[in-house]
Amino acid sequence: MIKTKRENIQFIDLKAQQARIRGQIETRIRKVLDHGQYIMGPEVRELEAQLSAYAGVKHCITCASGTDALLMPLVAWGIGPGDAVITTPFTFISTAEVLALLGATPLFADIDPLTYNLDPAQLEKVLRSGRVKKNGLKVKGIIPVDLFGQPADYEEIERFARQYGLWVLEDAAQAFGAEYNGRKTCSFGDVAATSFFPAKPLGCYGDGGAIFTNDDDLAEKLRSIRVHGQGSDKYDNVRIGINGRFDTMQAAVLLAKLEIFDEEIALRNRAAGRYSEQLSGKFVAPAVKEDRSSVWAQYSLLSEDRDAELARLKELGIPTAIYYPKPLHLQEAFRYLGYSAGDFPVTERCAGRIFSIPMHPYLEEAEQDYIIKGLLG
Ligand SMILES: *Cc1c(COP(=O)(O)O)cnc(C)c1O
Repeated sequence: MIKTKRENIQFIDLKAQQARIRGQIETRIRKVLDHGQYIMGPEVRELEAQLSAYAGVKHCITCASGTDALLMPLVAWGIGPGDAVITTPFTFISTAEVLALLGATPLFADIDPLTYNLDPAQLEKVLRSGRVKKNGLKVKGIIPVDLFGQPADYEEIERFARQYGLWVLEDAAQAFGAEYNGRKTCSFGDVAATSFFPAKPLGCYGDGGAIFTNDDDLAEKLRSIRVHGQGSDKYDNVRIGINGRFDTMQAAVLLAKLEIFDEEIALRNRAAGRYSEQLSGKFVAPAVKEDRSSVWAQYSLLSEDRDAELARLKELGIPTAIYYPKPLHLQEAFRYLGYSAGDFPVTERCAGRIFSIPMHPYLEEAEQDYIIKGLLG
């Protein structure tokens, strides 16, 4: 049977995954329909227990999105005006948006040219920058991002944080399941956030996220903030919070997906390995450091002539995407911070050249060969 691949290649194939576990998902959803506990039902508790065991962290607090998962710890710590937090400008808007939303100041630091993650060597410079002194800012913490599925440099970042009394909030929205020095993501720093947006490595069928911490007091505060700052009961409010709960239905979906998650990670790594082996002659393939693994939320290449490259791939029916075309320090929303082009040369160089190609566990070898041929052609 000759099936032309060019019309069928998916950037991320959620349909193939669903076809594989449709039965388990339906069984799980039917159970929720039967018991009817749509808010904080038993599936939410079951999922939290499974996720915390998976990550090797004492507490898992599921929530409504990855963005809420980043926001809630900041609310718990009372982060606000006058506070500053160091993060990367090469990430999704949420990472810095939550800081700005609370009136705090994002302090950007440039990235590592090989992994595109926050460069620990930049931290000292940013901490001592005129920007901090001039505005009388109090630097409180660091939000490293595990970009494209690869953990950031936690050893160096945590050492720096300890030295200056800063907290670390791991943004693992793209990297649930990845490892660093034998430890899973979401176990680094003081607290970690992840996302279950459908296209993430572990995604549900809507919005969702989770927070991880070993800190009992923080966990209790987060559970309270998740439900409008509730105290001893629903109508006792001891602090300002949000409506940040994770739906029972979505927990049911994730419980079914979690069963095949490790196998999917292995399949992603196999696909990434084939790409890297065959593409590294022509492109700068992603560098995964020796002491860690990636879950390949994206497989991203650099091209000196991106526009032409993407136009050509489009003609061949190969879907692509750009993460991220505009770094955060150059976004209109952050203009008030006063950064300008040239401030983060590694980030800007990368944003101008990077593009991502299809990556998911169900990428067939024949499809991959077609994509590789298209890229090398
Ligand atoms: C997706 C993502 C988020 C936000 O997650 P949502 O669930 O979409 O709110 C935060 N940070 C990073 C790095 C992300 O990729």
